[in-house]
Amino acid sequence: MLPDKNASTAQQLLHSVFGYNRFRLQQEEMIRQLVNGGDVLGLMPTGGGKSLCYQIPSLIRDGVGIVVSPLIALMQDQVDALRQVGVRAAFLNSTLTAEEVLAVESAMRNSELDLLYVAPERLLMPRMISLMANAKLALFAIDEAHCVSQWGHDFRPEYMQLSILHERFPDVPRIALTATADAPTRREIIQRLALQGAKVFVSGFDRPNIRYRIMENQGNAREQLLRFIRNEHENDAGIVYCLSRKRVDDTAVWLSGKGLKALPYHAGLSTEQRQQHQARFLREEGVIIVATIAFGMGIDKPDVRFVAHLNLPKSLEAYYQETGRAGRDGLPANAWMMYGLQDVITLRQMQENSDTDEAHKRIERHKLDAMLGFCELTTCRRQALLRYFDDHLEHPCGNCDTCLQPPETWDATEAAQKALSCVHRTGQRFGVNYVVDVLLGKTDERMQRFGHDQISTFGIGKALEQNAWRHLFRQLISHGLLRVDIEAHGSLQLTEASRPVLRGEQRLYLRKFVKASKSKSASRKGSTGYSQSADARLWEALRKRRAELAAQQGVPAYVIFHDATLMEMVERQPKSLSQMANISGVGERKLDAYGEDFLIVITNYLNESHDAPVDTAAETLNLFRLGMEANAIASQRDLSLATIYAHLAKAIQNGDVSLPEVTGLDEGVINMLRNAIEQHE
Ligand code: ADP
Ligand code: ZN
Repeated sequence: MLPDKNASTAQQLLHSVFGYNRFRLQQEEMIRQLVNGGDVLGLMPTGGGKSLCYQIPSLIRDGVGIVVSPLIALMQDQVDALRQVGVRAAFLNSTLTAEEVLAVESAMRNSELDLLYVAPERLLMPRMISLMANAKLALFAIDEAHCVSQWGHDFRPEYMQLSILHERFPDVPRIALTATADAPTRREIIQRLALQGAKVFVSGFDRPNIRYRIMENQGNAREQLLRFIRNEHENDAGIVYCLSRKRVDDTAVWLSGKGLKALPYHAGLSTEQRQQHQARFLREEGVIIVATIAFGMGIDKPDVRFVAHLNLPKSLEAYYQETGRAGRDGLPANAWMMYGLQDVITLRQMQENSDTDEAHKRIERHKLDAMLGFCELTTCRRQALLRYFDDHLEHPCGNCDTCLQPPETWDATEAAQKALSCVHRTGQRFGVNYVVDVLLGKTDERMQRFGHDQISTFGIGKALEQNAWRHLFRQLISHGLLRVDIEAHGSLQLTEASRPVLRGEQRLYLRKFVKASKSKSASRKGSTGYSQSADARLWEALRKRRAELAAQQGVPAYVIFHDATLMEMVERQPKSLSQMANISGVGERKLDAYGEDFLIVITNYLNESHDAPVDTAAETLNLFRLGMEANAIASQRDLSLATIYAHLAKAIQNGDVSLPEVTGLDEGVINMLRNAIEQHE
């Protein structure tokens, strides 16, 4: 057990340093385990708050906490954010100059560091090992621990050697953290990092603030995307994923042409271009990155408000990881996806064509089936997604499209039979478009040549329109009743699974085809919901101030304050520094550095919104009440000190403030002065 003193220390640090009131999920337990010298394996969803789990113990325990992370691009921002709250943090990686490295090393030797971020390849160098051997170490934190897994997509060979840490420094507690480990990966982490004695914490995978929505592409995906962004994400940061580089480039150009700040990102761009676009995404507000999946690993930006897919990801793991980049700050975010028949065909083809062995292909096929099944769901998407990760959600979530607008299902058996038998009658040699034409009874020269205008299924499908048929074919392919043969130019073929349906032994209930409309009932207005309200002005004013402060220091805006913190300011409108201190995300250091700045913004807003003509004396009084000294008010307002005192004298006369408040002298002293002056007169 953590002695009471340490427990209260952890709670105090949470409040005074980070400005938060309560621990989340299992943070407190994990911190306790580490502070007491035990090892931890923590599985927490993205945005769950993993960092605090090692940051706070590093502050409580003697010595420096060593954080191993493969995400070199992030270290600067992480360290900036920590320095903002007064934590002595630094990093060592290949981006530093030799002098900078020396400075960090000497700080470490002189016990001037609370936290040190290190790239894994550097950690195991003799120089680093000896540096650590000569310092007091608080703990080791191994971030993105799933990188030890050889089977995972983020495998880092250096991670395999991290067990050396334990052999070399057996008394230093370790914490391994990840957001993506399934049971086998979890076992691999424990084994490779020698964490057999670690306490395992699993926080579940749910990301309740993300709203999942999946729509079918009826040929106007880009317009739908634009409408979605304009309706719901004006000025928000977001990521748009596309399958190919060309689609990325086209989409970025097209969105830019519509007045959005959209930047492409894919492996075909030069390193500088990629870095530049990533930096703008992190630092500017409202930038949209259009990317292949090459983008995202290690994007730690907390205020990504939406992730949109213009193509189908190839597995639910990929979908979960990519959508997971939205809303790390816990505020509402959207995962929006549009997929169509062509996606299904392309992915099935890519898979069959890949030259991996049959065992691998089987796994990939299974994963794609799960992804397709997820798209076709008529029940809660979140429940299904969590089930896939062996997690459990009792009730439908109420925050996905199927919960918000339950899709209608219909008995599609008869239509499916027509479709399947039309595939059969045309010889299993044609693609979707042709078969649909036959069903609709559209004839042309080719069809006449093949004599398909004479077969029994010609024109039997006029009850449904073309898009509805395409929709049905996609479902039949998704459900595995039809197969697409790539060798034969995408021709459709019946599978074993189609037979019971054709023979009438199995009925088929499917999601009803819904024509794309302008309805947006499952949508919501921006993350803040302020877009139209009176608070929008205050929100914008606070964001503007934040952007100015961030630019002055060359850090991303969220390093100053998160959106959630600004939103709380909008809601609670603090009027003094002590009220400001109660806002979540305002710790002591930030209160000191920025409290006044933001109070001024709020006061100005309140004055304006009361429609009073700006009363200059009242303005001074307001600032004075916020705790600013006369000097500070004078320079802030660009007025002379005499003017400020004149304003304050008037306020004293009006009884708005007292003389002791203004002069800082107590009542007794003031009375003495009064008497002295009167005696002189
Ligand atoms: P992860 O690494 O798990 O994705 P982070 O450590 O970056 O998540 O935390 C996500 C966000 O949640 C950060 O902005 C962090 O400051 C915030 N956060 C973490 N713990 C708390 C808490 N107890 N109360 C409020 N906010 C928290
Ligand atoms: Zn749901």
